[in-house]
Amino acid sequence: MENELNTVLYCRFCGNLNPEGSGLRCSQCGAYSGMETVVEEEARRRSRRIRLDFLRNRITRIAIVVVPLLMLLVWVLWGYTGLPPDPPLPTTNIGDTSVAPVPGDWPQARGGITNTAASVGDLDVSAEGVTDVAWRHVAGAPIVAAPAVVGGRVYVTAEDGTVTALDESSGEVVWQYESGLTATVTPAVVDDLVFVVFRPGVVSALNADTGDLVWSRRLQVASLPSPTVADGRLFVAETDQNRLLALDAATGADLWDYHLSDWLIAPPAIIDDKVIATSNDAVIHIIDEATANVG
Ligand SMILES: [Zn+2]
Repeated sequence: MENELNTVLYCRFCGNLNPEGSGLRCSQCGAYSGMETVVEEEARRRSRRIRLDFLRNRITRIAIVVVPLLMLLVWVLWGYTGLPPDPPLPTTNIGDTSVAPVPGDWPQARGGITNTAASVGDLDVSAEGVTDVAWRHVAGAPIVAAPAVVGGRVYVTAEDGTVTALDESSGEVVWQYESGLTATVTPAVVDDLVFVVFRPGVVSALNADTGDLVWSRRLQVASLPSPTVADGRLFVAETDQNRLLALDAATGADLWDYHLSDWLIAPPAIIDDKVIATSNDAVIHIIDEATANVG
């Protein structure tokens, strides 16, 4: 008596438990076949599993419809709102272009970010005086780029990777930074920082008074153009990968990068919030300084 097991008619299609003797038709789904006489406990277990399967199938079907719809919605909103978002703004205003250049200074390659290659104001150099050599500095390796001149100091790089600050009137060495790499660029000297790129791809910012390293970071490949600074952005290149990079001048963090069609060799000019870069395939790229969009 105690082992007598209650059996039911289990429907294999919907998992319904029909009471024994209720006929051949499932009372839930109406199926005529597929009824099995099963011990009630086993039937309940199977029924639970079949209901879970139904639920899983339903969720899968809903997902198949809903996920593409959501993606479509995101895509439409993306296009409508002009996403992706603009690149981050610089955290600093180093190289503020609204401040007039100091007469007599030559702070970066080509004289300044507008590439005028001209000094502002009157130079204290007479035609008679130019034959007189005031001083001479001999570097330890070839100097292949023009120096920067700011605030009575001359900043020059040499191929042995040194950056040297000289007193403009005496030629005495104020400080020297040794990178142990190779330097072939005009430093950018802006707001008490000296920006230099070394081969095979290191960007460094030095303290203009002491030559101490303020920050340094690695690029993927060498930057051939001299570094230039405008409105908190430091412009360097990953020349071999056809990339122009805007870094945060205070930290060296990436702000944006722009893919050119060929090598960038000359430093870009920055005029009216536009970055004008030339690539080796004779293309001029005019890029928005803040967003890196073309045009
Ligand atoms: Zn059924």
